Order: sequence, then structure tokens, then C-alpha cells
Amino acid sequence: MTIHVLGAGVAGLTTALRLCEAGERVVVHERGTDLSASASWLAGGMLAPFCEASVADDSIVAPGLEGIGFWARVTEVERHGTLVVAGGRDAGDLRQFGARTRSHRSVGADELAGLEPDLAGRFAQALFFEQEAHLDPRRTLASLVRRIEARGGSVRFSEPVEPEAFAGQPVVDCCGLAAALPRLRSVRGEMALVRCPDVTLRRPVRLLHPRWPIYVVPRAGHVFMIGATMVESAAAGPITLRSAVELLTAAFALHPAFAEAEVLEVGSGRRPALPDNLPRVERTASGVAFSGLYRHGFLLSPAFSQLAADMLVGAKELA
Ligand SMILES: Cc1cc2nc3c(=O)[nH]c(=O)nc-3n(C[C@H](O)[C@H](O)[C@H](O)COP(=O)(O)OP(=O)(O)OC[C@H]3O[C@@H](n4cnc5c(N)ncnc54)[C@H](O)[C@@H]3O)c2cc1C
Repeated sequence: MTIHVLGAGVAGLTTALRLCEAGERVVVHERGTDLSASASWLAGGMLAPFCEASVADDSIVAPGLEGIGFWARVTEVERHGTLVVAGGRDAGDLRQFGARTRSHRSVGADELAGLEPDLAGRFAQALFFEQEAHLDPRRTLASLVRRIEARGGSVRFSEPVEPEAFAGQPVVDCCGLAAALPRLRSVRGEMALVRCPDVTLRRPVRLLHPRWPIYVVPRAGHVFMIGATMVESAAAGPITLRSAVELLTAAFALHPAFAEAEVLEVGSGRRPALPDNLPRVERTASGVAFSGLYRHGFLLSPAFSQLAADMLVGAKELA
């Protein structure tokens, strides 16, 4: 019997891979023409369980750390930690962030210069979350597709389908915001991709700017993802002028060389979120639904995809 996974975002592809690895026959159906239709395509790729616990809760830390291990066998994972910085006037924000999070240490200007030479002399203090990591989401999604196909599964594009479409066959609904889970809402996130040969960073840097808190995530070839707004809105349109200006201005505040960066892309995605901002896997009439990954799609999908696969295969065996 074939298992049908709906949606080729990070939830659908990780679940499909789990099922393929369990020996199941899997077809992924994606309504977009390629992988870029998903919110996952626009993500920063930070695997930051400790920093993110500041906006979620501590329950994301253990599955988040498990996720870093999963990704290391699927794709290239950069394990250089995260730096959190704030301008001199915002030292209080850095202290507050430190108080809300754990597993970090304070680094002074000299150590910061050793970790990220391009930030030398720019910040007196930073928080260093050494256990955190990051990856390139687009490479990672492509790598998931290759792994699914190598195990006999397939990923089909331009196939919008509903969970009821496969009478009697098991379905995993990973449609992101369109998944059949009650009380899902959209949290819009806008981002920019820039290329800046004059800046070199090894790890994500979060800037606690009072008006425009941003992060900058390095990718290969001096490309940087600058993200991301958090807007409680279901609007799917392009990035607004205001958001573009704020993101790019804040990057410039992190390092003035960003003024000369080439803007490669700006975009906006809709994060699927539930009232407690934690992901959920629930049984449905045709199988299971898995969504609500909010800001933590790459961080938490490894752990929750295992849960989805276990629930589905268990349910199938009972049937
Ligand atoms: C700007 C931004 C930055 C982010 N940064 C990070 C980060 O650094 N780290 C992190 O862990 N997370 C991050 N996130 C969050 C992460 O991207 C989301 O949590 C994640 O993408 C949600 O994955 P998903 O697979 O549930 O949904 P999606 O990625 O949206 O995928 C759902 C897919 O289902 C498809 N679909 C919908 N309906 C149907 C249908 N009827 N039939 C077939 N296909 C259908 C859609 O086209 C889509 O491709 C970020 C998000 C944004 C927007």
C-alpha cells in the first residue's frame, strides 16, 4: 500500500524520509511547481534551540538538539554556535535575553573578535550559544528529495490534492498552513538574501535592535539570509517596503559593509502556527496531520516527523 504525503515542505519531506527508511512505499504530492512554494524555502536554517526557547518554551530544547543530530546525517550542518549581540545603548536587552535563555556564555570584545573577526571593535559584549548550529534550507530540501527517491519514494510537483483523495490509503497531511488542524494561523515572515564579499561570518548572528531585531545567517559564497519579520497576518503578498527597509537597515547596523551588498532576493512566507506555537501531530480520518512548526520547522521537524511516521505506521498495522 502506498502512503501519500501531502506537501513538500520540511514537515512533509522529513516525514516521507522517515517512512521510506521504515520500508514504506511513499509518494509526496506538492501543489507548487517546485520546492520554492513552501515557507520552508524561505527559512533561515538556524538550528537554535536555546535562543528559540526565548519565544517558545523549554520543551523545544531536547527535540531541537535531537534535530541537529538528524540533519547532520542528511546534509551539511555548520556547528559553530550562535552569537547574540546588541549595540552599546541596548546592553540591557542583551542581559534580558541572557536571563530568558540558557546554555550560553558571555564573551567580551577580544573573544568576539576571535570568533568573528568582522565584528571586531563593533560590540563590547555578546552571548555565545556554542551548541547551536545552522544549515542551508534549500540545499537541505533538495537533499531530502534525493534521499527519498534513492529509497524508492517519489516527489511529484504541481499536484494539489486533498486528504480525502486517496480512498482507503493512508495520508500524511503536511500542508503547512493549509493542513487540516484546527486553530492554525499564519505568522508572516519576511526576509532578504544578499551577497556581500566584504563580510565573512561563520555563524548566525542575532542583533537585538530595539526596533528591528534581526538575524543574519551565512551561506556559501558570502551569501547571507537576513531575517525575519514576525507579523500576525495571513497576507501572502510580497515583502512590504517598510519591512525591506528595516531588515536591510538593521543588517547595515550589524556591519556597515552590508551597504554594498547585492540584494539577490526578498520574499515572504507564512509560518503555520498553533495557539501555543508548538507543533502538533494528530490522527485524522485518513491518517495523520502534522503542522504548527511556527519558527521551528528545521529545528523540530526531525523529532515530530518521527512521531508522525510512528503514529501512521502503527495505525496502518492495526487496520
Ligand atoms: C522567513 C522565515 C524564516 C524562518 N527561519 C527559520 C529558521 O531559521 N529555523 C527554523 O527551524 N525554522 C524557520 N522558519 C520556520 C519554518 O520555515 C516553518 O516552520 C516551516 O517551513 C513549516 O514547514 P511545513 O512543511 O509545515 O510548511 P511549508 O514549508 O509551508 O510546506 C507546506 C507545503 O504544502 C504544500 N501544500 C499546501 N496545500 C497543499 C495541497 N492541498 N496539496 C499538495 N501540497 C500542498 C505547500 O505548497 C507547501 O509547499 C522560518 C520561516 C520563515 C517564513
